[in-house]
Amino acid sequence: MKNPKLYANQSLTRRSFLAASAATSAAIALHPFSVQAAGNQVHLRIMETTDLHVHVYPYDYYGDRPTDTVGLARTAAIIKDIRAEATNSMLVDNGDFLQGNPMGDYIAYERGMKEGDKHPVITAMNTLGFEASTLGNHEFNYGLDFLMKSLAGADFPVVSSNVATEAGGKPTDDKTLVKPYVLLEKQLKDGDGNSHDIKIGLIGFVPPQIMNWDRRHLEGNVTTRDIIEAAKAWLPEMKEAGADIVLALSHSGIGSAKHADGMENASVPLAQVDGIDALMTGHSHLVFPGEKFAGFDGVDAEKGTIHGKPAAMGGFWGSHLGVIDLMLEKSGNEWQVVTSTTEARPIYKRGEDRKNVPLVESEQAVLDSVKTEHEETLAYVRRSVGKTDAPLHSYFALVADDPSVQIVSQAQIWYISEMMKGTEWENLPILSAAAPFKAGGRGGPDYYTDVPKGDVAIKNVSDLYLYPNTVRAVLVTGAQVKDWLERSAGMFNQVEAGKPDQILLNPEFPSYNFDVIDGVTYKIDLSQPSKFDPKGEPANADANRIVDLKFNGAPIDPEAKFVIATNNYRASGGGKFPGALGDTIIFEGPDTNRDVIVRYIVEQGTISPSADANWSFNPLPETSVLFDTGPKAIDHIKGVGGVSIEPAGDGPEGFARYRIAL
Ligand code: MN
Ligand code: MG
Repeated sequence: MKNPKLYANQSLTRRSFLAASAATSAAIALHPFSVQAAGNQVHLRIMETTDLHVHVYPYDYYGDRPTDTVGLARTAAIIKDIRAEATNSMLVDNGDFLQGNPMGDYIAYERGMKEGDKHPVITAMNTLGFEASTLGNHEFNYGLDFLMKSLAGADFPVVSSNVATEAGGKPTDDKTLVKPYVLLEKQLKDGDGNSHDIKIGLIGFVPPQIMNWDRRHLEGNVTTRDIIEAAKAWLPEMKEAGADIVLALSHSGIGSAKHADGMENASVPLAQVDGIDALMTGHSHLVFPGEKFAGFDGVDAEKGTIHGKPAAMGGFWGSHLGVIDLMLEKSGNEWQVVTSTTEARPIYKRGEDRKNVPLVESEQAVLDSVKTEHEETLAYVRRSVGKTDAPLHSYFALVADDPSVQIVSQAQIWYISEMMKGTEWENLPILSAAAPFKAGGRGGPDYYTDVPKGDVAIKNVSDLYLYPNTVRAVLVTGAQVKDWLERSAGMFNQVEAGKPDQILLNPEFPSYNFDVIDGVTYKIDLSQPSKFDPKGEPANADANRIVDLKFNGAPIDPEAKFVIATNNYRASGGGKFPGALGDTIIFEGPDTNRDVIVRYIVEQGTISPSADANWSFNPLPETSVLFDTGPKAIDHIKGVGGVSIEPAGDGPEGFARYRIAL
């Protein structure tokens, strides 16, 4: 109880307590269901975390700094409040707890899980008294042996109904990897304070796509079933076994209302399955109820229902707690949900100046429970996990092929090649698009990637890949590859041949839209106008800045098909790139580009990110341009390939100026 004074005041009735609490914002208000419950009614509050991805501390291990937007230790403060607000409550997790930040990588790649070891995220969950969880797709990232050893430490059951070690003729004949469902026998208090034994059934689901995403760990070891197929088969058995109420732990997003066999985001059709009373959802790292889902078929985004059934999604990394309040009523021997409310409570809010303001403080007990592993992770992110045989910097990323962009492309091609195996696109050429994220501009003269040759630490990877994007692959034609590059080349002002010292970069064009495509070779003819304006709108339809575009040494065939590895921002239309408007996506990776780079470095040991000079400016005699970069660029000027460059004094606002002879 947060405010003992209120409880000490005996003159307050429950209802006036509510009013008093509303006036004192810090005080705990009982949920109306707990106040209103009659003798045959039980208020049950179910709390959900989802997609924790090993975030226990409010700490950004990549940036090596505290953050207010993540951490189960923060969500724990809300859990504490919420337990105080309801007569009966339970806490569940919706999967993706084992992987997704450097603490997860540290345990998997460095410390390992021996028999009897406790995984820190499980330790933290045990501390908070979770009553159940389900498997998310990322639980499989480090292999089955690692997963099972991690689950062994959980004080709560982990259920998943559609992953089997041996498939039977029908789902209920499957030998599932973990229990398909559990019945939790709860003693719940009704409105008069009397206890009732109520069996809460919990059943879990994971996207069947894990067979593709983690093929190397799973093929030959497990199989998956369609989520709806599994639900329809197991629900009658759960009812038969005595489940009074059934909660689906759906590690699957809220998407199409139309069921398609094997669909990844199946929570809407799942809500229609008979016997399911409420759904916890996740996987897509969004918040429900929430405006993102307005207008979705079958979904009430404001009320938080899917096909009339309460549902919640608690963000990701501990950002929110999903909460479903059920008013259960007994009629005869049956318990039914008579009414419900849903919410998602955040741990922070976006304040003025777009600054994040924490709404809660960390729970010390949760921090203490994994303090050792937190400190070991700090040491891990600060120490070398691989080596680079070239410096990784972005000082010249906008004027020459560049190692900081090259390494991202190498990792993306490595990953997408693996993901295309066994698909209809497996034999297509795989290209990669990547842009320099930290390249001066409005970020200022120190805003560059700068990792020296030698040891690479995990914390350096955030410097290489600034955003928590996820990997995508798009299917494009040769003509679209060219137009993609034409869009990129809007980075540059048009240059007049034969004139010296013209300003090269268009300040209206952000560097994150300067995609370099690896896997092809090309030149940029700056004497041409840009085909697109800085926003991506057509400007000069007949312009051709991209010349000598070749694949395998031969001019690119405009009709030929290519796979381009990129990120979710670009693939879904960010920057309006031709061929990347959301309709060409063939693969949606569950992994962040950052994770892919870390895995790539760990697996390769030493990386060789020397740029391959696959693009350059087309020569223009007697012509030169000026461009501004960070003052530290001078240390790297010798290593820049494919361009003739010299210092040209100071630029504005602390930048250094360089001259390029075209
Ligand atoms: Mn996730
Ligand atoms: Mg290259």
